Amino acid sequence: MPKYAMVIDQSRCVGCMACVVACKRENQVPPEHYRTRVLEEVSGSYPRLRTEFRSELCNHCDHSPCVTVCPTGASHKEEDGTVQIDRDKCVGCKACIAACPYNARYINEEHGYADKCTFCQHRVRAGKKPACVATCIGHSRIFGDLDDPNSEVSRLLRDNNARVLLPSAGTRPNVYYINQFPHKKS
Ligand code: SF4
Ligand code: SF4
Repeated sequence: MPKYAMVIDQSRCVGCMACVVACKRENQVPPEHYRTRVLEEVSGSYPRLRTEFRSELCNHCDHSPCVTVCPTGASHKEEDGTVQIDRDKCVGCKACIAACPYNARYINEEHGYADKCTFCQHRVRAGKKPACVATCIGHSRIFGDLDDPNSEVSRLLRDNNARVLLPSAGTRPNVYYINQFPHKKS
């Protein structure tokens, strides 16, 4: 069984937002919500300014508070390492939204269930890459199996100093960031 993860190479993101658009179209995300975002950060002081982009999405955490607090078992960790939501079990209580320190979830108001990035589970099961990864022109988003030592994600994590977002939260994310501009902090 694989253990899926994503590596985001911040030096390769050009901020085109193609991933955001591809995700919304692939997953019919309501206009007012996002399963992934690209944040723009400006650092330094004039005239030595630098813009950097950072993609964010559900981290498919190994210690996932969204799963812990879910009263119905709708939010759950799957064998492939991803965190998923069983829509039929979800009662829309929003406990998971409050528990997620990454603001990764939202309620689909039309249908009443919690929703978020699935690592495009339907595409991956069909042998494809997640939509955001397939569309990324900079090859900034890399998806793969951490249990395969020859996968690109395994190689990138061996060869780079990776960080995760909010490590102090103790959630053990499966989205990793590499090649961040040196002066940034977690
Ligand atoms: Fe849950 Fe949030 Fe972690 Fe995703 S990022 S697994 S929604 S705690
Ligand atoms: Fe679980 Fe749904 Fe409540 Fe979230 S909103 S905690 S998935 S029942």
